[in-house]
Amino acid sequence: MAEKTRIGRTDLYVNPIGLGTNAVGGHNLYPNLDEQQGVDMVKESVENGVDFLDTAFIYGPGYSEELVGKAIKEMGNRNEVVLATKGAQKFVNGKEVLDNSPAFLKQSVEESLKRLQTDYIDLYYIHFPDEDTPKSEAVGALKELKDEGKIRSIGVSNMSLDQLKEANQDGYVDVFQGLYNLLQRDSEKELFPYTLENNISFVPFFPLASGLLAGKYDKHTTFPESDLRSSMPHFQGDAFMNNLEKVEQLHKIANQKGIDIPHLVLAWYLAHEAVDVIIPGAKNGEQVKSNLKTLEVDISKQEFDEIDKLFA
Ligand code: NAP
Repeated sequence: MAEKTRIGRTDLYVNPIGLGTNAVGGHNLYPNLDEQQGVDMVKESVENGVDFLDTAFIYGPGYSEELVGKAIKEMGNRNEVVLATKGAQKFVNGKEVLDNSPAFLKQSVEESLKRLQTDYIDLYYIHFPDEDTPKSEAVGALKELKDEGKIRSIGVSNMSLDQLKEANQDGYVDVFQGLYNLLQRDSEKELFPYTLENNISFVPFFPLASGLLAGKYDKHTTFPESDLRSSMPHFQGDAFMNNLEKVEQLHKIANQKGIDIPHLVLAWYLAHEAVDVIIPGAKNGEQVKSNLKTLEVDISKQEFDEIDKLFA
């Protein structure tokens, strides 16, 4: 069993390798997802020691929460799993709209509780900021839900530093989830110093750059239009070729250590003071079990710096 790590100042203690579940029922993100395979993957992950599951209303929409909830229900171990979900989106005339109003966030939490078949959510994030609601008011609504015991900790995601500061005006934000991986390191500059200083845990999303940093793609790799990667800049043209070359360099370091590229990449994040836990996504149980091997990896200062420089 992995040693548990505390997520920032929350009372949540988890295996530092969690599971991102946007490919569990995330039909709006990836084509041809098999829902039963998703449920089975969640169960296999938990059986193998993963106890931090990250989902969101918008994955599906709704299906990821439902399938994660189903898996936990069937395993019958709700209290052994730390469940994170997110909300802020609604559909108006078929169009996705962001809403952080206290009334809508409270309604969203109730709906997530139903889909997840539980009576509490361990970590609830405002998935994206809207344009109108003062951030501290939105977070204030989550604080009320925390006081009622419906959620155990408060997160925000996809906010700029200024938005995060506003959201954390009363010191209620426990966790920030932001884009961060070796190819996209902007968060280091402004967000890391603020989250560190304010004891907010930074959870990186897209840690494997949607699979690019797992080291198995090559210049012939393409994705269907319905796969979110078909439109991501780092999978296009020269940028993609350039990224593949950098990943090849990682291959060398991983080979020397006798490990695989994703383990090296994921261990590199965990070596950051700002990061307590990571939530790599996966399409099957084999990937999850592979990613768990990260726990066995030690990165020396020299290796850390070498990777840092390579992706500077
Ligand atoms: P990711 O973790 O960067 O990449 C996951 C993908 O990498 C997998 O689906 C799989 O794709 C590949 N992979 C994973 N482990 C592997 C292994 N050991 N060997 C080979 N390939 C492997 O991307 P993500 O899943 O999109 O992001 C992680 C989580 O962050 C999500 O699941 C979600 O919970 C969260 N997220 C949050 C936000 C937000 O706005 N807050 C945004 C995005 C994501 P293939 O098999 O297809 O190659």
